[in-house]
Amino acid sequence: MCDKRGFTLVELLVVVLILGVLTTIAIPRLIVGSQTASENACASNLEILNSQLEIWAAMNGNAYPATLSVLTSNKAYFPRGTPECALEGTYSLDSDNVVVCDH
Ligand SMILES: [Zn+2]
Repeated sequence: MCDKRGFTLVELLVVVLILGVLTTIAIPRLIVGSQTASENACASNLEILNSQLEIWAAMNGNAYPATLSVLTSNKAYFPRGTPECALEGTYSLDSDNVVVCDH
């Protein structure tokens, strides 16, 4: 009787090769996906900040705050805390009264 147990070296090398190919394909996609998710999170934060800025301006006679911190420090507008950029950027108010990120 054939008492063959375990894997041959060729079978093991084929498995390692397949895992290497799959890893080569998957890792760049994961990195790009993570970057895209962070950019989308920042864009969503900017929409929220600009929306709250417009509400703040409407409540203050169409006047915009001098700095963004006037808005972000108000817990009525951000009860769960100020949004932060996932790409470690900083939000600021530009000369057109629009919140922008510098990432
Ligand atoms: Zn950002």
